[in-house]
Amino acid sequence: MKGNLIIVSAPSGAGKTTLVSQVAARDPRVRPSISFTSRPPREGEANGLHYHFVSREEFEAMIVRGELLEWAEVYGNLYGTSRTLVERLREEGFDVILTIDVQGAEIARDLFPDAVGIFILPPSFEAMTGRLNVRGANGQQDLRVRLKNARAEIDERDKYDYLVVNDDLELAVEEIAAILVAERRRMSRCREQASRILNTFIE
Ligand code: 5GP
Repeated sequence: MKGNLIIVSAPSGAGKTTLVSQVAARDPRVRPSISFTSRPPREGEANGLHYHFVSREEFEAMIVRGELLEWAEVYGNLYGTSRTLVERLREEGFDVILTIDVQGAEIARDLFPDAVGIFILPPSFEAMTGRLNVRGANGQQDLRVRLKNARAEIDERDKYDYLVVNDDLELAVEEIAAILVAERRRMSRCREQASRILNTFIE
């Protein structure tokens, strides 16, 4: 069975990266999509693991060659999803999670109307600013921009199918995992399987 496409968006500091990697770690049928970005790596980020880090020129060449399923400019850097990487994983039966901003989500939803959208919220504004300050590496100017953008991103929440509040990490991971399991059992996605079973009934 072809895997589902899951779109996860959240304001910066909602903890979406940790959440998604924990969901993938506990469910072998789930793979996070590793985006391409022109942003330089932060401390502790590895090429090919957190992102595929490329130059702005390389990224622009990928756009021209039509290699990106969606892309967007976020905080002055380019971010995008590889079309072939996602398609290959889905064909292999994996549910693929795109952790992307609200602009990219809009494009992905148009291309894949049956994609499942999950919006993550931090439990409060204080919790979100706290997380951003702990991360620290972004600089004060960057921090201000991210906080300003958070409100605009949150205004897009109604375009998603599910809302998960990342208060208790364990619980939030469990909720996302449960959403993925339930989405696999949607009748519209299981028709082929049902037919195969029904065929065994015919003598
Ligand atoms: P960060 O620089 O903090 O890793 O990411 C900044 C923003 O870019 C986040 O909202 C993140 O979800 C988004 N982002 C990461 N990868 C992609 C992508 O492939 N496409 C789009 N549209 N946004 C992305």
